[in-house]
Amino acid sequence: MNFRVIGCEGSRLEDSRPVSMLLGSRVMLDAGSAGCVPPEIQDGLDTVLLTHAHLDHVLELGFLLDNTSGFRSGPLTVMGSRACISIVREHYMNGRLWPDFSRITTAAGPMLRYVEMPDLEWFRLPGGIEAMAVPVNHSAGARGFIFRSGGAAMVYSGDTGPTEEIWRRAGEMPELTMAWVECSFPDRLRDLAMVSDHLCPSLAREQMALLGRPDVARFAFHLKRRLRDETVAELGADFRIPANGDGFVL
Ligand SMILES: [Zn+2]
Ligand SMILES: [Zn+2]
Repeated sequence: MNFRVIGCEGSRLEDSRPVSMLLGSRVMLDAGSAGCVPPEIQDGLDTVLLTHAHLDHVLELGFLLDNTSGFRSGPLTVMGSRACISIVREHYMNGRLWPDFSRITTAAGPMLRYVEMPDLEWFRLPGGIEAMAVPVNHSAGARGFIFRSGGAAMVYSGDTGPTEEIWRRAGEMPELTMAWVECSFPDRLRDLAMVSDHLCPSLAREQMALLGRPDVARFAFHLKRRLRDETVAELGADFRIPANGDGFVL
């Protein structure tokens, strides 16, 4: 599976894009920067998998649907936890803030369909990818994911404060090769990280101790642009910092 970073930051500024990743060519993980991929790639997406319903993760889902209107041959599947889907339906794609694309039907059927994903069970995604959603410590129906494909696996925290189960489950997988950990604030704002259910470098290190897998490549993402330099300095050599446009093979 190719894993490509479209946006990996926890803020939107001139040079900072909210989270969107491509898993292969047919699955997008979060839609914070969904409109930033070429239109032919948007047309080919089958599924948008949401970690949670916060605005920086669903922001451009509406633009994705609008951009691909008239170009898709079937509905776009939007997957998330029950709470996440209900927030998107009630507060975003509700026919007031943005059209309810699940009720807009063309000859190809509805333009959008919602699918609630199970917790703690493997489910299949297009492109031969398997995913497991694990509840994490953050609001808006938040889930982290473990992905496996072609004999390798990665763990992806999504937005979270200190949490345990996802690291325990992933740490038990011998095929694990990558761990993606959010890190929104520098250590001087550790209190803010705790009250907002996010991580800072010292907390991210504590999470990696729970994973217990020093053999696995560690990536820190969801950094906030204006706090980036000090956060990166504190992360040091323990974490790689991905850039938009980077690609990885799982
Ligand atoms: Zn969030
Ligand atoms: Zn976020």
